[in-house]
Amino acid sequence: MFDLFPEKGQTDLHIKYDAASGLKAIVAIDSTHLGPALGGCRFIEYDSTELAIADAVRLAQGMTYKAALANVPQGGGKAVIIKSPNTTNREAIFNAFGEFVEELNGRYITAIDCGTSAADMDIVKYHTQHATSTTTSGDPSPYTATGVFSGIQSAVRFKLGRKELTDVHVAIQGLGKVGSRLASMLYKAGAQLTVTDIDEKKCQAVAADTGANVITPSDIYSLPCDVFTPCGLGAVINDTTLKQLKCQIVAGSANNQLAKACHGNILHEKNILYAPDFIINAGGLIYASLNHNGQNTQSIFKRTCQIGKTLDEVFSRAKFNNQATVDVAIELAEKKLLH
Ligand code: NAD
Repeated sequence: MFDLFPEKGQTDLHIKYDAASGLKAIVAIDSTHLGPALGGCRFIEYDSTELAIADAVRLAQGMTYKAALANVPQGGGKAVIIKSPNTTNREAIFNAFGEFVEELNGRYITAIDCGTSAADMDIVKYHTQHATSTTTSGDPSPYTATGVFSGIQSAVRFKLGRKELTDVHVAIQGLGKVGSRLASMLYKAGAQLTVTDIDEKKCQAVAADTGANVITPSDIYSLPCDVFTPCGLGAVINDTTLKQLKCQIVAGSANNQLAKACHGNILHEKNILYAPDFIINAGGLIYASLNHNGQNTQSIFKRTCQIGKTLDEVFSRAKFNNQATVDVAIELAEKKLLH
């Protein structure tokens, strides 16, 4: 099992089984160096417990980098609740999970992620203060979209030498909470949009609002465009899609866009500028952290707009050193963690 842990650092793993509710939860804490670990809680099905642990560990490490580069006072952590195909007692599961988070004594702060909602976090919050993204603390997605917008502006300035997004062709994959908001922001900035989602209704709604061209999910990778913006699932940059991409920039909100670490280097070799996901999608974390620490929405918004500046630095260093942007970003994050 220890093969699942990163080569560097110290990760601790907490596992809880509660027979009464059926809760099977894993919390991975990758770092508390800069503050309590903060990261979402996934509630999805896994093919094996080992895969669930691997997911929690990998995502927790990503949160450490994300928090370090976003300059928020948090470490990296993540929770996974293994969902069974016949789960019916959701409330009992989140009650038990809240007790579990409380037992961790503030080393881990939980939030929403795939398969969890603000209503679930309300249940968790009943048992512990160490929970955010409840119905009262609000949805972080608008901040994530704002950060991605700022990141796309940075990438377009750097790669295409264009100060404005007017007529820049952006292809958005996934029109959920982040992708649909981002589409609207890009439309207002004058970008030309092509969009896709496995949910046809979401495509039609965004097309009606923005005049976007709609294509099928399988056609998005080979579409000639300036910016490919993954806002659906992870691992969309992989051995198959790398052969298809005809974009100049990859910049989107999805977590873990690179299926393998080496895919960042292949993007670099192909001269495609990659905005590392754990920098560009940090708006949600910035919101969750600063909101949890009592800051107002205006200052949170201002901090989110600085994501582009962090990317400016990463892009410049990567060019200067002829390195993949993701490698530069990891180096910068690790430097911050040394202090
Ligand atoms: P969401 O679930 O609201 O939306 C995802 C959308 O992607 C859905 O509409 C879904 O139908 C679509 N989709 C799934 N597979 C697809 C495919 N193969 N092709 C096209 N569309 C597909 O999620 P969200 O909150 O909008 O988040 C989007 C991504 O950004 C996720 O990877 C998430 O982990 C990441 N992220 C989100 C936030 C946030 O604040 N919401 C923060 C950081 C990272």
